[in-house]
Amino acid sequence: MLFADVLVSQQIKQLLINTVNHQRVSHAQLFLSQPGVHSLGLAIAYAQYLNCQNRTETDSCGVCSSCLKYKNLAHPDLYFFFPNATTAKVKKDNESASFYKEWREIITETNALFSLNDWNSKLKIENKQPAINKNDIARILDKQITKPYEAEYKVFIIWMAEKINNAAGLGHKLLKSLEEPDGKTLFILISEDVEKLLPTIISRLQLVKINKFNTEDFATLITDKLGCNHDEAIEIASITDNNLVDALHMDKRELLEKENFTRFVSMMRSAYRICYFTNNPVKVNFPETAVLIKSLAELGREKQKSFLRYALTLVRKCLLTNSGASSLVKSSSEEATWLVNFSPFINDYNGNKVVEAINEAIRNVELNANANILFTDLVLLLGQLIQYGDKRLRK
Ligand SMILES: [Zn+2]
Repeated sequence: MLFADVLVSQQIKQLLINTVNHQRVSHAQLFLSQPGVHSLGLAIAYAQYLNCQNRTETDSCGVCSSCLKYKNLAHPDLYFFFPNATTAKVKKDNESASFYKEWREIITETNALFSLNDWNSKLKIENKQPAINKNDIARILDKQITKPYEAEYKVFIIWMAEKINNAAGLGHKLLKSLEEPDGKTLFILISEDVEKLLPTIISRLQLVKINKFNTEDFATLITDKLGCNHDEAIEIASITDNNLVDALHMDKRELLEKENFTRFVSMMRSAYRICYFTNNPVKVNFPETAVLIKSLAELGREKQKSFLRYALTLVRKCLLTNSGASSLVKSSSEEATWLVNFSPFINDYNGNKVVEAINEAIRNVELNANANILFTDLVLLLGQLIQYGDKRLRK
């Protein structure tokens, strides 16, 4: 991978480039970032640059034999270690090397920008606790004392180093390697959770902190990558908390749906509270409702309509789920969880009236009605309808 393809600030790239060009490469480094930062890509680009036979001041050449092997993630002196677990295919003695095929695939598919969840899904081990276990540590200790096959530097990239199984004393086993590596060796430990690393390990590592982009830079990047406009990009930055993995792997429609889902849940929660706690005003969270209504009122007509249409589809999903036809309902996992809990409140008793209320709101948006009044009315009406549909209150 070239530095040019890594989505981090130029400043941090330059810092790493300088260590190579001024021969100040620390043999053990900790790349620390928050989730959704291109740290793995940066680590690969750095290792490639260090071993490139024809590097320039700013990047690897991309075409020398070392670069080509790095490009295919097939350099014999490049080792990857990452969380893993037993799978349907690898039933025991699992280690990172058992999954190099999948590892190369996910890096190629995502340009090395993916989350631990994405990796767990790739291996279909969502229900397990993947870790870097004893076989991996044994392999590191073994490979560390062997001479490089052809490169100047052997490189060990340990992704999600916080998943090293410290309970088994494995962190301690690594310490000596990190302190006195044989020959030209570079360890890059990548972590998103420094708290879970042993302090003794941290103290042996050169810290390289990789910050998220600020919102403006993030939005510029997203505008470029997703082809959206600047306002949308700012909105995506806000929804994803400047997380590049989330922003680049969801399409725009999904992102906006996710946002509409959050609004809908918040609207239904407000409606629910109003209808159940009006006898006990202390418990009514009116400030939250006021914030919600204000934010809906400020959306602008097109987004208000898009939100209300989305609300209609979720109401229909509730009705389908209630009638036992949940297999017909296509939902995101977030929606599915919510539907299980909330769908009983929208049923044969009130379903038509809820649909009517939302359709009426759409008509009023089109008629340019006062949005504050319109959404306040809608939340209050939904509150009454939820109460009407609650079977616990029916005689
Ligand atoms: Zn090269």
